[in-house]
Amino acid sequence: MNKRLTTFLSVLVVLVLLPLSPSNAASQTGGICSKAGKTKVISGKTFKCIKSGKKLSWILTPSISKVTPEAPKIVETWWRAMLDSRSFSQVPRVIQSIDIKSAPNVPKSETDKIAAHFNDTLIYWSQFVVNPQPLYTTIVSEKDYEWYMKRWQELGSDNTGQYWWDKTGNGEGGAVGWNNSGQINMYFKVLTTRPSTLATREHVFHEVTHFFQATALKDEVNNTPCWFGEGQAQFIQSAHADKSETVAKSIAIQNRKWAISAVNKYIGTTNSVDGLFNALTNISRGDVLCNRTEPLLGYTLGQLVNEKLVADFTWIKVIDFMKKSPENGWQASFNSTFGISAEDWYKKDLIPYLIAELKI
Ligand SMILES: [Zn+2]
Repeated sequence: MNKRLTTFLSVLVVLVLLPLSPSNAASQTGGICSKAGKTKVISGKTFKCIKSGKKLSWILTPSISKVTPEAPKIVETWWRAMLDSRSFSQVPRVIQSIDIKSAPNVPKSETDKIAAHFNDTLIYWSQFVVNPQPLYTTIVSEKDYEWYMKRWQELGSDNTGQYWWDKTGNGEGGAVGWNNSGQINMYFKVLTTRPSTLATREHVFHEVTHFFQATALKDEVNNTPCWFGEGQAQFIQSAHADKSETVAKSIAIQNRKWAISAVNKYIGTTNSVDGLFNALTNISRGDVLCNRTEPLLGYTLGQLVNEKLVADFTWIKVIDFMKKSPENGWQASFNSTFGISAEDWYKKDLIPYLIAELKI
């Protein structure tokens, strides 16, 4: 269990002071006793021998009864943070516009599923930030290479193209691309042979989160540490994995187990506290360890960092932090939004939490 919560609960077991009966108290209190600390019980009341100055005298001690708190609602820190992000459901003033196109061979059922999830995701994020440009979204299948390349060129030849097509191979995949004018494009490749595992609320929330990260942080998103981008996308995908809280939580638990075991494996090869501090400060967004090869620290460690960030400062403050980042950089924004520098927060709050959660 979370240590802070345990402390809090034990404090909840309060001491109840029963009112003294003045006459009884007066007759028993004040008599001289011989040894400090000794106790005696008279008519159900306990007296203790207390030394005051040079004098030892019997003092009536308050009756102590333990009060069991009403079944406390114990919510783990990480799920409390996720519930915080789930709890926002304002009707946004403006909803992010989208330009969504499907290639000819994509099964209609897949397009419909993805589009419905996009709708939910855009409404959610539009509460916080809206990009004046539409979110250009493309759904292709393995049979749509020519169509895809044409669409990719129309969208300004971003950094996906042939590279991403080859990378997905015979499988499925999702990607976010940036073209030279800073436009963000989103791609989903699904297969005609089976229902896509990407056509889920979870994956759509993940990818769309990247679009809004770039919208809020602008170019500063490229300077953010490894833990931010993928970590927040993982955090949000878990929190919103399903409309049902119970289902979302069970998915989140699985995602978190994967994250914990990957970080544990990585930490096992390094000195734990130093290794964690190093991973937080020195591993960049572009590092292979961050998002290309195991332990995929951006996704795994990042997920845990983001849950603690929201738990400590609330989701709405994290949004403020993102929006303020383009002014003077993410670090200055971290400082002014949360009232602590990122490095101090790592040392004082985050690393002790990680160590407890990872059970190093
Ligand atoms: Zn991602």
